Amino acid sequence: MLRWLALASLIGAVGTGYRGWPAASQTSGERAAWNRPFQPFHLIGNIHYVGATGVSAFLITTPAGSVLLDGGLPETASQIAGNIADLGFRLSDVKYLLNSHAHFDHAGGLAEVKRLSSAMMVASDRDAQALRSGSPDMPALVVDRVIRDGETVRLGDTALTAHVTPGHTKGCTTWTTTTTERGRAYTVIFYCSTSVVDRLVGNTQYPEIVADYERTFSRLRTMSSDVFLGPHPAFFDMEAKRQCRALPKCPIRPPGSSGMGSGRATVI
Ligand SMILES: [Zn+2]
Repeated sequence: MLRWLALASLIGAVGTGYRGWPAASQTSGERAAWNRPFQPFHLIGNIHYVGATGVSAFLITTPAGSVLLDGGLPETASQIAGNIADLGFRLSDVKYLLNSHAHFDHAGGLAEVKRLSSAMMVASDRDAQALRSGSPDMPALVVDRVIRDGETVRLGDTALTAHVTPGHTKGCTTWTTTTTERGRAYTVIFYCSTSVVDRLVGNTQYPEIVADYERTFSRLRTMSSDVFLGPHPAFFDMEAKRQCRALPKCPIRPPGSSGMGSGRATVI
């Protein structure tokens, strides 16, 4: 887990060409590369990948409807809608929208997805403020439920727990759940992000940023999972997972065989 967090932070800061917030600092070429279509696929259990090549979106399906985590860029929304349909699910069955964090590349598409689905938007208190205000590249939207640290969103047979891990944004939220495949229960973490895209020293907009990062790092060190996922596919080697799932029988390792000390951070 630690190895992945360090790698994910590094990739988040440099590897994807991410030059920080706001959107104006991104070139149109980088943005187009992020938004390149990616064939949706079944990840594990009731979790499906429905995002683009460089920005994630996850569909968690249950007998009572679905949950969508993240909406990509504003221009990713229609792609997510198409990906959900391509997998045989319906956008109108999405009951809850969740967000890793209120940045344009993960929340920019949420307003449009909400309009198309009428789903209930759930966000942490401090990111809810940013979502409600919006920005030039992140259309404002109504947040229907503010979720506190440790609280859970329940739908059908699935529970998703919010862990507020601030720093990357003030309300950055890491979500966890358990999913079942072939009779085995796997723990899943949807890591928010810890890459540094904001000023750490003299940040008058966010004076507690360093203390928040320190607390978040300590906390994430205590969390482990069977499956590690995140807001950018480069954080979790999505292509390898897609290739595995394309096999007649993807060799998913048993629960508990990942995490620190195992040499690998994920079972798939
Ligand atoms: Zn971000």
